Amino acid sequence: MKPKRLPELSGKDLARFWSKVDQKGVNECWPWLGTVALTDNRGNFSFRKGFKRTLKAPRIVYALHFGVDPFPQQVLHNCNNANCVNPHHLYLGDAKDNSVDSDEAGTKVCGKILILQYSQKQMSEKSKLP
Ligand SMILES: [Zn+2]
Repeated sequence: MKPKRLPELSGKDLARFWSKVDQKGVNECWPWLGTVALTDNRGNFSFRKGFKRTLKAPRIVYALHFGVDPFPQQVLHNCNNANCVNPHHLYLGDAKDNSVDSDEAGTKVCGKILILQYSQKQMSEKSKLP
């Protein structure tokens, strides 16, 4: 499979991207507030107009922070929180590392709880809108 390159992020894309990140302290997890993939519990970021692809939020954060696109390597979490996008908690590995990562730490279970929390939060935010 041919690697797909990361698209250029416009200022607007970046602003939209970071608006979905709950940026906390360097040592804390930064929860992704946007859509989460049910397959791997990772954040999804979709681009509008002419780019109908969804990218993993940790991949974008990694690329922005370290200046390199991690693809085709997987972005893994040393905090075992699949929903986290704090670049200080991310490291690179392959798909095999990733399954070990999530199985050992029970990330899948945590991720599901997080999805519930976020969808509830999003719903309550939506209901506040005029
Ligand atoms: Zn984290």
